[in-house]
Amino acid sequence: MSEPLHYRSTRSASHGARIDQVIAAGLAPDGGLYVPEALPQREPAAFDPNGSLADTATTLLDPFFRSSALAAELPGICHEAFDFPVPLRPLAYREGASVLELFHGPSAAFKDIGARFLAACFRRLRPEADAPLTILVATSGDTGAAVAAAFHRQPGVRVVILYPDGRVSPRQAHQLGCFGDNVQALRVAGSFDDCQRMVKAALNDKALQSAVPLSSANSISLGRLLPQMSYYAHAALSAWRKHDAPLNVIVPTGNLGNALACVWVREMGLPVGDIQLACNANATLSDYFDGDTYTPRPAIPTLANAMDVGAPSNFERLRWTFPRDYELRMQLHATSVDDDTIRATIVRHARDHGELFCPHTATAVHVLDRMGVISAPWAVVATAHPAKFDSVVEPLIGREVAVPPALAAMLERPASAAPLAASDAALKSWLRAQAETERAVAG
Ligand SMILES: *Cc1c(COP(=O)(O)O)cnc(C)c1O
Repeated sequence: MSEPLHYRSTRSASHGARIDQVIAAGLAPDGGLYVPEALPQREPAAFDPNGSLADTATTLLDPFFRSSALAAELPGICHEAFDFPVPLRPLAYREGASVLELFHGPSAAFKDIGARFLAACFRRLRPEADAPLTILVATSGDTGAAVAAAFHRQPGVRVVILYPDGRVSPRQAHQLGCFGDNVQALRVAGSFDDCQRMVKAALNDKALQSAVPLSSANSISLGRLLPQMSYYAHAALSAWRKHDAPLNVIVPTGNLGNALACVWVREMGLPVGDIQLACNANATLSDYFDGDTYTPRPAIPTLANAMDVGAPSNFERLRWTFPRDYELRMQLHATSVDDDTIRATIVRHARDHGELFCPHTATAVHVLDRMGVISAPWAVVATAHPAKFDSVVEPLIGREVAVPPALAAMLERPASAAPLAASDAALKSWLRAQAETERAVAG
């Protein structure tokens, strides 16, 4: 256990990298995703029963950071990142069921947790004296705001967000454009796939990189995935102490980052029981777990837009964890939930129980609704606050959704985004022009 943990790419067993190198790099050089060479084992007894989420995170992640440049910094990183509550709230009308609320951070979606942890790591890995770093983010809505909030006003870092114009909710668009200072939003005349391709093209352009140092903060970074394990460990340990039973979990799923974190926590030996994936009408995962061959496909737009993914990038890590299909299919179940069912679920729970859910969370609530009597504890994972998706939720329930204070503060600020053509060249010349202006201003 005191051995340092090494990381490798899902695509080649090249030499082990350390976590600080993995976090700085994002993607492995061969285009694969970084994974730990083995998942460390953790006993429930290793955790302080009275510890905070940040304390649980520190104990859980310690073996992942051992002997790295960030090892001594880990407690500080965890306390900086996990500075908002992540409650496991019992559902009064359903014995044994709870909601794990991940949306109490600055941008009102669970991506705050990974983004804040990554930013806390970057602050320690990059001395301010280095040349300013530009972090590029392609977003279908929630990632951009979480990354912007996490890096806002951080010296030595600039964030450039690309989003598909007209394809994010009005409040999401406002959030992306309201930061200012070191954050710039670009509304791209194209799709999310265009945004992702433009970011990749810029990152792979060596000449551009020497003029404008670039990095990314997309969801495949282990610096975002590992911290997501913390809330599953914390919730499962608290349920274990209370009920002496493992916690079963239903996770709204798109790119599989959130659910994979839960799978890894169970692999580490912590008391997580069944894991159910709730997907929207993008059925790549539910078809696979029903027995079809894995077939990535183009994404289709749904009410749960942050889960509009036809080729979940973290499937490659799941495959690495369980290489054989029959073994992998025993680990998880997946359900595809269409837009009509999402609407009906939101309406029924608001009407019958006074419970408001965002469209993503509603997919998981539907999976719970379908189960009969439950004897073991189940948690539905709530990935965003319903007020973030007011344009979907409010017409359905016929009243306004109260806005949490952090989101309200963002909505009060003015917002602006610059238009950009959906071409690789357009982004590259925008980045060069921006860097030249800054140099001229500097002197
Ligand atoms: C990103 C997101 C998801 C999907 O999470 P993955 O890790 O991509 O599976 C679900 N709900 C909301 C609100 C999100 O922002």
